[in-house]
Amino acid sequence: MMRRKLAAGNWKMNGTVEDLTQLAEIAGAALETGPEVLLCPPATLLSRAADAARGTWMRIGGQDCHPAASGAHTGDISAQMLRDAGARYIIVGHSERRTDHGETDAIVRAKAEAARAAGATAILCIGETEAQYRAGDTLEVLRSQLAGSVPDDATGDTLVLAYEPVWAIGTGLTPTTDEIGAVHNFLRDRLIDRFGPDTGTAIRLLYGGSVKPANAAEIFAVADVDGALVGGASLTAADFIPIIDALSAA
Ligand code: PEP
Repeated sequence: MMRRKLAAGNWKMNGTVEDLTQLAEIAGAALETGPEVLLCPPATLLSRAADAARGTWMRIGGQDCHPAASGAHTGDISAQMLRDAGARYIIVGHSERRTDHGETDAIVRAKAEAARAAGATAILCIGETEAQYRAGDTLEVLRSQLAGSVPDDATGDTLVLAYEPVWAIGTGLTPTTDEIGAVHNFLRDRLIDRFGPDTGTAIRLLYGGSVKPANAAEIFAVADVDGALVGGASLTAADFIPIIDALSAA
Protein backbone atom coordinates (compact mmCIF):
# COMPACT_ATOMS: atom_id res chain seq x y z
CA MET A 1 0.00 0.00 0.00
CA MET A 2 1.52 3.30 -1.14
CA ARG A 3 0.37 6.17 1.02
CA ARG A 4 1.03 9.63 -0.37
CA LYS A 5 3.02 11.65 2.11
CA LEU A 6 1.45 14.81 3.48
CA ALA A 7 3.03 18.01 4.77
CA ALA A 8 0.19 19.89 6.47
CA GLY A 9 0.54 23.37 7.95
CA ASN A 10 -1.81 24.76 10.58
CA TRP A 11 -1.63 28.54 10.90
CA LYS A 12 -3.96 28.54 13.93
CA MET A 13 -5.07 32.10 14.83
CA ASN A 14 -2.28 33.70 12.82
CA GLY A 15 -2.21 35.43 9.48
CA THR A 16 -3.65 38.43 7.70
CA VAL A 17 -3.76 39.29 4.01
CA GLU A 18 -0.10 40.28 3.90
CA ASP A 19 0.92 36.74 4.96
CA LEU A 20 -0.50 35.34 1.71
CA THR A 21 2.93 36.07 0.19
CA GLN A 22 4.30 33.28 2.42
CA LEU A 23 1.48 31.01 1.32
CA ALA A 24 2.18 31.72 -2.36
CA GLU A 25 5.86 30.95 -1.87
CA ILE A 26 5.03 27.67 -0.12
CA ALA A 27 2.63 26.80 -2.97
CA GLY A 28 5.59 26.93 -5.32
CA ALA A 29 7.15 23.99 -3.43
CA ALA A 30 4.10 21.78 -3.99
CA LEU A 31 4.56 19.40 -6.91
CA GLU A 32 2.25 17.03 -8.77
CA THR A 33 4.22 14.08 -7.43
CA GLY A 34 5.98 13.68 -4.11
CA PRO A 35 4.41 14.83 -0.87
CA GLU A 36 1.05 16.50 -0.86
CA VAL A 37 1.30 20.03 0.56
CA LEU A 38 -1.56 21.52 2.54
CA LEU A 39 -1.98 24.79 4.40
CA CYS A 40 -4.82 25.49 6.81
CA PRO A 41 -5.02 29.28 7.23
CA PRO A 42 -7.58 30.98 9.50
CA ALA A 43 -11.10 30.94 8.03
CA THR A 44 -10.87 34.66 7.24
CA LEU A 45 -8.16 33.93 4.65
CA LEU A 46 -9.59 30.74 3.23
CA SER A 47 -11.04 31.95 -0.05
CA ARG A 48 -8.11 34.27 -0.73
CA ALA A 49 -5.76 31.38 0.05
CA ALA A 50 -7.71 29.13 -2.32
CA ASP A 51 -7.37 31.81 -5.03
CA ALA A 52 -3.63 32.02 -4.39
CA ALA A 53 -3.31 28.22 -4.58
CA ARG A 54 -5.31 27.90 -7.80
CA GLY A 55 -3.13 26.55 -10.59
CA THR A 56 -0.61 25.15 -8.08
CA TRP A 57 -0.50 21.72 -6.44
CA MET A 58 -0.98 23.08 -2.95
CA ARG A 59 -4.20 22.27 -1.13
CA ILE A 60 -6.07 24.47 1.31
CA GLY A 61 -7.87 23.30 4.46
CA GLY A 62 -9.93 24.49 7.39
CA GLN A 63 -8.93 24.26 11.06
CA ASP A 64 -12.26 23.16 12.52
CA CYS A 65 -15.91 22.77 11.53
CA HIS A 66 -19.29 22.60 13.21
CA PRO A 67 -20.93 19.14 13.15
CA ALA A 68 -24.12 20.53 11.58
CA ALA A 69 -24.45 21.52 7.92
CA SER A 70 -26.13 24.87 8.69
CA GLY A 71 -28.27 26.54 11.30
CA ALA A 72 -28.41 28.85 14.30
CA HIS A 73 -24.79 28.57 15.49
CA THR A 74 -23.42 32.09 15.70
CA GLY A 75 -19.73 32.30 14.95
CA ASP A 76 -19.42 28.71 13.75
CA ILE A 77 -18.56 27.49 10.26
CA SER A 78 -19.85 24.29 8.66
CA ALA A 79 -17.82 21.81 6.67
CA GLN A 80 -19.93 22.69 3.59
CA MET A 81 -18.97 26.35 3.98
CA LEU A 82 -15.30 25.45 4.22
CA ARG A 83 -15.59 23.29 1.10
CA ASP A 84 -17.37 26.15 -0.64
CA ALA A 85 -14.44 28.43 0.24
CA GLY A 86 -11.97 25.95 -1.26
CA ALA A 87 -11.00 23.64 1.63
CA ARG A 88 -10.18 20.04 0.69
CA TYR A 89 -9.19 19.05 4.23
CA ILE A 90 -10.52 19.99 7.68
CA ILE A 91 -8.56 19.56 10.91
CA VAL A 92 -10.80 18.20 13.66
CA GLY A 93 -10.08 17.47 17.32
CA HIS A 94 -6.93 19.56 17.59
CA SER A 95 -5.89 19.59 21.26
CA GLU A 96 -6.39 23.36 21.37
CA ARG A 97 -10.03 22.81 20.38
CA ARG A 98 -10.39 19.95 22.86
CA THR A 99 -8.93 22.15 25.64
CA ASP A 100 -10.26 25.62 24.78
CA HIS A 101 -13.72 24.48 23.72
CA GLY A 102 -14.24 21.30 25.74
CA GLU A 103 -14.54 19.12 22.65
CA THR A 104 -15.14 15.47 23.51
CA ASP A 105 -14.35 12.43 21.38
CA ALA A 106 -18.05 12.26 20.43
CA ILE A 107 -17.99 15.86 19.17
CA VAL A 108 -14.77 15.25 17.27
CA ARG A 109 -16.28 12.17 15.65
CA ALA A 110 -19.36 14.17 14.61
CA LYS A 111 -17.08 16.80 13.07
CA ALA A 112 -15.13 14.15 11.15
CA GLU A 113 -18.45 12.79 9.86
CA ALA A 114 -19.51 16.31 8.87
CA ALA A 115 -16.25 16.79 6.97
CA ARG A 116 -16.84 13.57 5.06
CA ALA A 117 -20.45 14.48 4.27
CA ALA A 118 -19.19 17.74 2.80
CA GLY A 119 -16.61 15.94 0.65
CA ALA A 120 -13.58 17.00 2.71
CA THR A 121 -10.93 14.79 4.28
CA ALA A 122 -10.72 15.07 8.07
CA ILE A 123 -7.31 15.37 9.72
CA LEU A 124 -8.25 14.00 13.11
CA CYS A 125 -5.89 14.78 15.99
CA ILE A 126 -5.27 12.62 19.02
CA GLY A 127 -2.57 12.83 21.67
CA GLU A 128 -1.77 12.46 25.34
CA THR A 129 -1.15 15.26 27.85
CA GLU A 130 2.15 15.62 29.66
CA ALA A 131 0.67 14.07 32.84
CA GLN A 132 -0.62 11.08 30.86
CA TYR A 133 2.78 10.72 29.15
CA ARG A 134 4.61 10.80 32.49
CA ALA A 135 2.21 8.25 33.93
CA GLY A 136 2.97 5.87 31.05
CA ASP A 137 -0.64 6.04 29.83
CA THR A 138 0.06 7.20 26.26
CA LEU A 139 -1.09 4.09 24.42
CA GLU A 140 -4.23 3.64 26.53
CA VAL A 141 -5.19 7.29 25.99
CA LEU A 142 -4.67 6.94 22.24
CA ARG A 143 -6.62 3.67 22.13
CA SER A 144 -9.57 5.36 23.76
CA GLN A 145 -9.41 8.55 21.65
CA LEU A 146 -9.14 6.47 18.50
CA ALA A 147 -12.12 4.31 19.46
CA GLY A 148 -14.20 7.34 20.46
CA SER A 149 -13.38 9.86 17.78
CA VAL A 150 -12.67 7.99 14.54
CA PRO A 151 -15.88 7.29 12.55
CA ASP A 152 -16.73 3.65 11.77
CA ASP A 153 -16.81 4.31 8.03
CA ALA A 154 -13.38 5.99 7.85
CA THR A 155 -11.30 5.30 4.75
CA GLY A 156 -7.91 6.41 3.47
CA ASP A 157 -9.68 9.05 1.38
CA THR A 158 -11.85 10.49 4.14
CA LEU A 159 -9.50 10.39 7.13
CA VAL A 160 -5.93 11.23 8.09
CA LEU A 161 -4.92 10.56 11.69
CA ALA A 162 -2.49 12.97 13.37
CA TYR A 163 -0.62 11.89 16.50
CA GLU A 164 0.06 15.10 18.40
CA PRO A 165 1.36 14.74 21.95
CA VAL A 166 -0.16 17.76 23.70
CA TRP A 167 3.08 18.44 25.57
CA ALA A 168 5.02 18.66 22.29
CA ILE A 169 2.76 21.25 20.62
CA GLY A 170 4.40 24.66 20.48
CA THR A 171 6.91 23.74 23.19
CA GLY A 172 10.02 22.76 21.23
CA LEU A 173 9.84 19.35 22.93
CA THR A 174 9.37 16.15 20.96
CA PRO A 175 9.17 12.47 21.85
CA THR A 176 12.21 10.41 20.84
CA THR A 177 12.04 8.85 17.40
CA ASP A 178 11.70 5.45 19.13
CA GLU A 179 8.66 6.73 21.01
CA ILE A 180 7.12 8.14 17.84
CA GLY A 181 7.79 4.83 16.07
CA ALA A 182 6.18 2.81 18.88
CA VAL A 183 3.07 5.02 18.85
CA HIS A 184 2.67 4.97 15.07
CA ASN A 185 3.15 1.22 15.01
CA PHE A 186 0.49 0.89 17.73
CA LEU A 187 -1.92 3.17 15.81
CA ARG A 188 -1.37 1.25 12.57
CA ASP A 189 -2.17 -2.02 14.35
CA ARG A 190 -5.33 -0.57 15.90
CA LEU A 191 -6.48 0.75 12.49
CA ILE A 192 -5.90 -2.67 10.89
CA ASP A 193 -7.75 -4.39 13.77
CA ARG A 194 -10.71 -2.09 13.36
CA PHE A 195 -10.91 -1.49 9.61
CA GLY A 196 -9.14 -4.52 8.15
CA PRO A 197 -5.84 -4.63 6.27
CA ASP A 198 -6.83 -2.58 3.20
CA THR A 199 -8.38 0.45 4.90
CA GLY A 200 -6.18 0.06 7.97
CA THR A 201 -3.05 0.50 5.89
CA ALA A 202 -4.53 3.19 3.61
CA ILE A 203 -5.16 5.74 6.39
CA ARG A 204 -2.21 8.14 6.66
CA LEU A 205 -0.57 8.76 10.03
CA LEU A 206 0.97 12.18 10.64
CA TYR A 207 3.17 13.19 13.53
CA GLY A 208 2.67 16.70 14.96
CA GLY A 209 4.38 18.63 17.74
CA SER A 210 7.36 20.96 17.31
CA VAL A 211 8.37 19.68 13.88
CA LYS A 212 11.08 22.05 12.58
CA PRO A 213 13.56 22.06 9.69
CA ALA A 214 16.20 20.77 12.16
CA ASN A 215 14.33 17.64 13.28
CA ALA A 216 12.09 16.88 10.28
CA ALA A 217 14.40 14.40 8.54
CA GLU A 218 14.85 12.17 11.59
CA ILE A 219 11.11 12.16 12.30
CA PHE A 220 10.24 11.38 8.66
CA ALA A 221 12.66 8.43 8.72
CA VAL A 222 10.47 6.69 11.31
CA ALA A 223 8.36 3.81 9.96
CA ASP A 224 4.68 4.61 9.54
CA VAL A 225 5.21 8.37 9.77
CA ASP A 226 3.46 9.54 6.59
CA GLY A 227 4.14 13.23 7.12
CA ALA A 228 3.55 15.96 9.65
CA LEU A 229 1.04 18.43 10.95
CA VAL A 230 3.08 21.56 11.54
CA GLY A 231 2.07 24.64 13.51
CA GLY A 232 4.68 27.34 14.13
CA ALA A 233 7.08 26.22 11.42
CA SER A 234 4.36 26.42 8.74
CA LEU A 235 3.97 30.19 9.11
CA THR A 236 6.90 31.07 6.89
CA ALA A 237 8.17 29.65 3.62
CA ALA A 238 11.70 29.74 5.06
CA ASP A 239 10.73 27.16 7.70
CA PHE A 240 8.04 25.14 5.93
CA ILE A 241 9.77 24.53 2.58
CA PRO A 242 12.75 22.72 4.19
CA ILE A 243 10.23 20.49 6.01
CA ILE A 244 8.50 19.71 2.68
CA ASP A 245 11.93 18.99 1.18
CA ALA A 246 12.81 16.65 4.06
CA LEU A 247 9.56 14.76 3.47
CA SER A 248 10.32 14.49 -0.25
CA ALA A 249 13.70 13.02 0.54
CA ALA A 250 12.39 10.53 3.16
C1 PEP B 1 -0.04 21.91 15.82
O1 PEP B 1 -0.59 22.95 16.09
O2 PEP B 1 -0.70 20.99 15.34
C2 PEP B 1 1.39 21.80 16.07
C3 PEP B 1 1.95 20.65 15.91
O3 PEP B 1 2.05 22.96 16.45
P1 PEP B 1 3.66 23.17 16.52
O4 PEP B 1 4.23 22.61 15.25
O5 PEP B 1 3.83 24.65 16.62
O6 PEP B 1 4.13 22.42 17.72
